Order: sequence, then structure tokens, then C-alpha cells
Amino acid sequence: MATVEDESSYDYVFKLVVVGDSGVGKTNLLGRFVHDTFDFASKSTIGLDLTIKNMIVKDKRVRAQIWDTAGQERYRSITKRYYRGSVGALLVYDITKRDSFSGISRWLNELRINEAHPDSIIMLIGNKSDLEKDRAVTQEEAMDYAKKNGLMFMETSALDNVNVETAFETLIYNIFDKLS
Ligand code: GDP
Repeated sequence: MATVEDESSYDYVFKLVVVGDSGVGKTNLLGRFVHDTFDFASKSTIGLDLTIKNMIVKDKRVRAQIWDTAGQERYRSITKRYYRGSVGALLVYDITKRDSFSGISRWLNELRINEAHPDSIIMLIGNKSDLEKDRAVTQEEAMDYAKKNGLMFMETSALDNVNVETAFETLIYNIFDKLS
């Protein structure tokens, strides 16, 4: 069980959200990245999980509060509260599921409508890169989409632990550079 410390002991607290269709690997990506986790006891009622990752970035203490939808996306009814105050997002699809890539624009729209911070940074993530044989979305296509929409982009594998830490850290470093 993680100790919940006073947030004043951090120089920066960033709220990040993870969105994307159900089954793309959001929970597993978070699980890979974060060691210091706690679940709200009331998770089943509010349908949200908060995960904490503490990092040192350029000698500053940064606390990333990363929110996972805890399956709420299945019902297409993520509350505004989920997005409120967020300064960054991981927008995840599954490289083997064309539909999950097609769904990206809806998520992006929802992020843009609901996000509080105008300088918010969004990283597009093509997860399950280990399943190359079943690939349904090329890197080029995703890169092109990211470029057109002002997103960062990376492919990851939560299973093989490829690029997971790099993706989260790149996002956090970029937010740090923008907001510090
Ligand atoms: P979520 O609904 O977006 O939170 O997705 P989950 O994290 O629950 O993962 C959905 C399914 O995809 C599970 O069966 C995972 O084991 C699987 N999965 C998640 N990430 C990967 C990955 O990188 N590679 C492969 N092959 N499977 C993955």
C-alpha cells in the first residue's frame, strides 16, 4: 500500500489521463509503468483508478497522478471530472484492431472539449507492438495522423515492456518543459 504524502512536498503535480477503447491495454500500460499504486476503496462506485508515479525531473520533484478509466469507457460515458485539470493524456489504440484506431478521433475530440489546460500534451500510443503478425494499422499512418493533429506518437508493448517507460517519461518531460 502506498503512503499518501502531503502534495506540498512536490514541486509539481501533473494530472494525466489515459483514454482509448476498451481492451487496447490501458490498464496494463499503467501497470508496467508504475510501481507505486493505490486503488480508491470506492473504485467500484466511482469507476476511476488513480495511480501515482513520483519522479525527479531536472532536480525537481514531480508527482504524476495518472487516471485510468477502470472500464468506464465501455459505457461511453466518462465524466467531465475525469478530464478536469489534466495537463496530459495518453490516447491508446491497439495496432491489431483497426476499430480502435478509428475510434481515436472521438477520444481526441472528447479530450479537447473537456481538458482544462490549453497547453495539454497528448501522446498517441499504438499498443501491442509485439503482435506484428496481426498488425492492422501501419506506423506511417499513425504517425501521419499524429502529425496532422499535433500529437506525439509511439508504439509500445505492455506485454514485452517495450517503450512503455519511454512513452510516459517523454510525455511527462514535455509537460514539464511546457509548464515549468
Ligand atoms: P484496457 O481495457 O484498455 O485497460 O486493456 P487491458 O490493459 O485490460 O488489456 C486488454 C487485453 O489486452 C488483456 O488481455 C491484456 O493482456 C492484453 N494486452 C495488453 N497490452 C498488451 C500488449 O502490449 N501486447 C499484447 N499481446 N497483449 C496486451
